[in-house]
Amino acid sequence: MELVEILLKKLNKNAVVTEIAKDKDPFKILVSTIISARTKDEVTEEVSKRLFKEVKNVNDLLNIDEEKLTNLIYPAGFYKVKAKNLKKLAKILKENYNGKVPDSLEELLKLPGVGRKTANLVLTLAFNKDGICVDTHVHRICNRWEIVDTETPEETEFELRKKLPKKYWKVINNLLVVFGREICSPKPKCDKCFEEIKEKCPYYEKIKHFENILKKFNFKKVSKNNIPNEKGTYILKIRLKEGKKIKFGKTERFFKKGYYFYVGSAYGNSINLKNRIERHLKDDKKLHWHIDYLLKFGKVEEIYITNEKVECEVANEFMKKFDFVENFGCSDCRCKSHLFYLKP
Ligand code: SF4
Repeated sequence: MELVEILLKKLNKNAVVTEIAKDKDPFKILVSTIISARTKDEVTEEVSKRLFKEVKNVNDLLNIDEEKLTNLIYPAGFYKVKAKNLKKLAKILKENYNGKVPDSLEELLKLPGVGRKTANLVLTLAFNKDGICVDTHVHRICNRWEIVDTETPEETEFELRKKLPKKYWKVINNLLVVFGREICSPKPKCDKCFEEIKEKCPYYEKIKHFENILKKFNFKKVSKNNIPNEKGTYILKIRLKEGKKIKFGKTERFFKKGYYFYVGSAYGNSINLKNRIERHLKDDKKLHWHIDYLLKFGKVEEIYITNEKVECEVANEFMKKFDFVENFGCSDCRCKSHLFYLKP
């Protein structure tokens, strides 16, 4: 929670929907939250301003022509689907809720285009009720900070409901949306992050540790088309886009979405970095080693090589800060693993 506290002191900017919510109009908050899904902040802001000049309440939304509504909310993501949902929403609000936005999670979730994220945000911003709105930013950052260990935003919401003190429930979304858009984005801009956060961020600690490993063993990054015909040790950074159950031999294991670092080496007769790594990269390779099974689903994003014979030393260094995956050691060593995990 220390990290949340630091951000509360440092950030003094609001997400667009929080700004719109300042006049506490549940209708506008609900509509702008629906528009904001998969849409850039600037677009949500522009579209909401334009829309609310013409559509101020449920009756206006009911009466507006769908084509005109579609044009008004363009270029928000999925604007055609959203326009359809907004028309349905107006009808349901009028017929079932007397033209008012309901103030309970259960009722909000029955509305078209409203998922848990939107429902929680409306509850907190419009009705000042307890709720935790978990979108992709909250999910990603809470995992990077190791407050939770989850695969989906929904799981994160349920974990936060157990772990996060109530005083943070209403503020966490606004805080992490702004921070996630500007600094802790999918590719985090750690060099722009606050020093106090870097000091305590578990994710940053791992990234720095990885950089130190590269330095310590003289690794250099190479492209897939430029792997030298030499002996040495290599690291593959593999990205798994979605969590996946993978079967290798008699074992089946769930691999979490994120990054995997595989440490291997190329020594011995007729083996070199080029032919060994290219074999990993081939789509139609025979499934020989455990890593081949992961590579069926994961994509090699980065390759590092060194001419030093240090496979197990490198694996031991990873072991100090990273989570490891069992059964991925090399055949002739005593290391617990040569495969390490980093959250997305
Ligand atoms: S140090 Fe990097 S990973 Fe950690 S919170 Fe800052 S931007 Fe995110």
